[in-house]
Amino acid sequence: MDNYRTHVEIDLGAIRRNAETIKASTRKRLIAVVKANAYGHGVVPVTKALQGIADMFAVATVEEGVELRQAGVQEPILVLFSSLPEQASLIVEPGLVPTISDWKFANRLNAIASDKISAHVNVNTGMNRYGVHWTEAAQFLNRLKTLDRLAVKGLFTHLATADETDKSYVFVQIERFASVLEELRNGGELVHAANSAATLAVPESHFDAVRPGLVLYGVYPVAERPIKLEPALTWKARIGWVGSLSEGEGVSYGLTYKAPHQTRVAMVQIGYGDGYPRALSNAGEVLIGGARRPIVGRVCMDVSIVRLESMDNVSVGDEVVLIGKQKDSEITVDAFAHRAGTISYEILTQIGTRVPRIFKHAYSNRKTR
Ligand SMILES: *Cc1c(COP(=O)(O)O)cnc(C)c1O
Repeated sequence: MDNYRTHVEIDLGAIRRNAETIKASTRKRLIAVVKANAYGHGVVPVTKALQGIADMFAVATVEEGVELRQAGVQEPILVLFSSLPEQASLIVEPGLVPTISDWKFANRLNAIASDKISAHVNVNTGMNRYGVHWTEAAQFLNRLKTLDRLAVKGLFTHLATADETDKSYVFVQIERFASVLEELRNGGELVHAANSAATLAVPESHFDAVRPGLVLYGVYPVAERPIKLEPALTWKARIGWVGSLSEGEGVSYGLTYKAPHQTRVAMVQIGYGDGYPRALSNAGEVLIGGARRPIVGRVCMDVSIVRLESMDNVSVGDEVVLIGKQKDSEITVDAFAHRAGTISYEILTQIGTRVPRIFKHAYSNRKTR
């Protein structure tokens, strides 16, 4: 056994197979979204595992792009939210691909570049968080042509409701985007729109490339499951203490759980300081010996308490699964997030820096194309 109080295991082979499955089913290029430490999975090992399959990587921030370049990643890296003119040199120097959504930033990039810079333009078709408004996009792109060191190599948009059952607004956005493409007509740019939900559920959004994050990690954002994905992350912790409560006695801060009768409990070495949501106080569930056991009382910063059944044979050091499989039972990220009143994205990205990531499964990254 390992000697961690808590750790996550990342199956890099699963991530690689998920990416292969996505490419095989969409038959499009793959822009692999590895922002926020690859959704908590560990950005450098995940990116390396995807080499030879992903055609491009996408990160949220300039700093995330720089980290990948420093780790020796040579593939194109799209920075989805690069908009501060002050950061232009941080983009140009390591050769990152910026996202352009306003003139000032484009102008700044052009001014400091010595060679041609490849950039993508984000068209706002209704997500309304950034991007060039779709009714002005064609004109904006023509104006960008006057910047001689800037080469627009990609055009994208982002869908606001692809994970909802009602896809009508998705098609409104796709039509707006298509009208911009129609107006430009010259082509050549890499056109992309599909996040994970649209990759799974809206083939009309696939254009030249899909741009998923969540599904790479084997988590479904929608009910539609046209392809089989493998969850890549298992989160474990270990028992730190076993005790019992007599009838009427409370447990943890505020004594919010009171034992209805003599009750055995165990302390698990996991808390909100590790990113385990405090919202799971009196609401979470863990796997011990393949059985589901409830969190009782408040989740603390470093530990939580679970209620045992009288027959449970549990000792200090035993393995507890928080997310993933144990024997025949499984807690999916989705079910976990639901109990915590949030979404899988938030759970994965909140797994703390105090939790070591252990990478397992060798894979071959010889080119598969
Ligand atoms: C995060 C993000 C994605 C990936 O979203 P998923 O739902 O994880 O697939 C794609 N595009 C943009 C612009 C994003 O911000």
